Amino acid sequence: MQLIASPRELVSTCRQWRRQDEDIALVPTMGYYHAGHEDLIRHARGLAKRLVVSLFVNPAQFGPGEDLTSYPRNAERDAAIARDLGADVLFAPEPADMYASDHATWVEVPDMAATMCGQRRPGHFRGVCTVVLKLFMLTGADVAVFGRKDWQQQAILTRMTRDLNVPVRIETRPTVREEDGLALSSRNVYLTREERAQAPEIYRGLCFARDMAAQGATDASLLRQSVLRRWAERLPLGRLDYLVVVDPVSLASVQEIRGPALMACAVRMGRARLIDNIELAQSPDR
Ligand code: AMP
Repeated sequence: MQLIASPRELVSTCRQWRRQDEDIALVPTMGYYHAGHEDLIRHARGLAKRLVVSLFVNPAQFGPGEDLTSYPRNAERDAAIARDLGADVLFAPEPADMYASDHATWVEVPDMAATMCGQRRPGHFRGVCTVVLKLFMLTGADVAVFGRKDWQQQAILTRMTRDLNVPVRIETRPTVREEDGLALSSRNVYLTREERAQAPEIYRGLCFARDMAAQGATDASLLRQSVLRRWAERLPLGRLDYLVVVDPVSLASVQEIRGPALMACAVRMGRARLIDNIELAQSPDR
């Protein structure tokens, strides 16, 4: 595995591969790998002849007061994992390699970024879109793999890619969880023992709503209320950022579940902000 920090070097490596008709898969990450990242990398390894994994804690997607400087890092361990999983290149640039001091160009999908995580994190998805488009252009990737845990992120990137005719296919993977249901996240290390013990209630609440929908409940506000009541009892250390039912593609709010719908949430627990989501299927007899 080649470790590359320079964008120019990444371009020339990928260009050489494409000249030999070798296709390229890309997995963008911020590092501190867990089994969720490993699943994306493993899946991407089977999609193309060449695999680029990027490791970049992108300053542009962190707001003031967020955890940019304290974001967990372990570059050596991450490099060993990427190598063992068959990456051809680990691209790990420095911020100055990616953003000139007078950087002024941004990519955004304002409507889809105005809701959910974007409401509490203004500018976050603009930072995500900009860096991911850079990675698409630097690599010329044929396919890129993202996790459904960050549902809003993959929905926005899918729209950006379509709107800008970026010739890359986006694939998504299901959320990898701890045995007790907590979605794996690099930020789970922020949880205290008490918070960690309650955190699985986030997913249990979402499963409760999914089961209600499967049994025929279609009123999104009723589903929300049921989950909130449950969390008030079982998740006292959590502070709700949002709990929404939305269209899985457009992220527009859904009141009455008549087709595909997604319930998504963000809950603050101490220093951590945990996000999760679940797809709500309609009852089969409707
Ligand atoms: P991050 O390093 O947090 O930016 O995440 C890099 C990629 O891994 C993104 O596409 C995430 O959606 C994905 N990811 C993060 N956590 C999980 C998880 N628990 N299961 C599956 N994919 C994940």
